Amino acid sequence: MSDATELIELSERRSAHNYHPLPVVIREGSGAWVTDVAGRRYLDCLAGYSALNFGHGNERILRAAREQLSRVTLTSRAFHHDRFAEFCARLGDLAGKEMVLPMNTGAEAVETAIKVARRWGYDVKGVPEGQATIVVAEGNFHGRTTTIVSFSTDPDARGGFGPYTPGFRVVPYGSAEAIAEAIDDTTVAVLIEPIQGEAGVIVPPDGYLRAVREICTERRVLFAADEIQSGLARTGATFACDHEGVVPDMYILGKALGGGVVPVSAVVADADVLGVLGPGQHGSTFGGNPLACAVGIEVVVMLATGEYQAAARRLGKILHDRLRALIGRGVVAVRGRGLWAGVDIDPALGTGRRFCEVLLEHGVLAKDTHGSTVRLAPPLVISEDDLLLAVDRFAAALRDLRS
Ligand SMILES: *Cc1c(COP(=O)(O)O)cnc(C)c1O
Repeated sequence: MSDATELIELSERRSAHNYHPLPVVIREGSGAWVTDVAGRRYLDCLAGYSALNFGHGNERILRAAREQLSRVTLTSRAFHHDRFAEFCARLGDLAGKEMVLPMNTGAEAVETAIKVARRWGYDVKGVPEGQATIVVAEGNFHGRTTTIVSFSTDPDARGGFGPYTPGFRVVPYGSAEAIAEAIDDTTVAVLIEPIQGEAGVIVPPDGYLRAVREICTERRVLFAADEIQSGLARTGATFACDHEGVVPDMYILGKALGGGVVPVSAVVADADVLGVLGPGQHGSTFGGNPLACAVGIEVVVMLATGEYQAAARRLGKILHDRLRALIGRGVVAVRGRGLWAGVDIDPALGTGRRFCEVLLEHGVLAKDTHGSTVRLAPPLVISEDDLLLAVDRFAAALRDLRS
């Protein structure tokens, strides 16, 4: 069975409809390219929502994974294994933090940060038991668990999944004042994305992250930065917080940390924060497993060279220059940082979904978000020629819709 139409129909019948994939069935991937079951090639400009920052089939990551696959893949945390300490030490060093708590998916890492913040609030800050509050931003995306959707402002993500977890205060994104006003004696953390990805690659006003840092320090509240999508070189720096010279109390990492091979996520913080957890209070059967650590080590070693951050800066400038040149020709606005762009398509040309379907016909994979916004985040290993090709095809798709 390899015919695309058959496979799509079977998926429709036999899987839950919690996604609405574009009509392409991928069989292979290499670098920034994927090939479908009919042998047609596409440039992957979504890169697994930044989980594929290092591209499909990255040889260094695959080598690390293969080597580990043939030794030991899973031990559980009931025992030590020989890749765990190195992973935690190297990732901690990359972030300039003392401790790491490895999990698997991004949502699990966010849940971990919420638990750590609450625990810290009760044990260290002295918040009365059961009263902890966390300040979050409108338009946030932090994952899909029941607690996380409790503070989502997206009706599709949240609606119909109550009762909701209490203890969250939602304020407008980009306003440090609103955060300051929302904080009181019960507040244990401010949880934000340094750039909001799913919301449409929303870059906050200059100085926002610095102001949040100052407020959190002053009011004795933990600053938890969800860098699951923005972190690990995507924006041209190791972390998006770096652009403002800001160090949060907790980095929440995921996506690219798994090298496109396995789910690897983590909370990275100093001992006065992560140290609040004791045995039995949190965990995961798969979190920090040997395969995940082997892949994660390779990812961190690669990031430590700075070459992927530099590529994101260099290629990102090209991407943004070229996309901005399309403003007035079907593009309304372009946002983003590094090799990451949210492009608002003129709604008169159709929905973002429709545009992505046309883009697919031109051999480029991208994903719409919220109406007429399209997100571009090719792997950081994309060549300059391929990036230019992707933008040319983007322009061609706009022309199709205009005519
Ligand atoms: C993708 C994402 C998550 C959730 O990660 P999963 O691995 O899908 O659970 C959380 N926060 C941000 C900012 C993300 O982009």
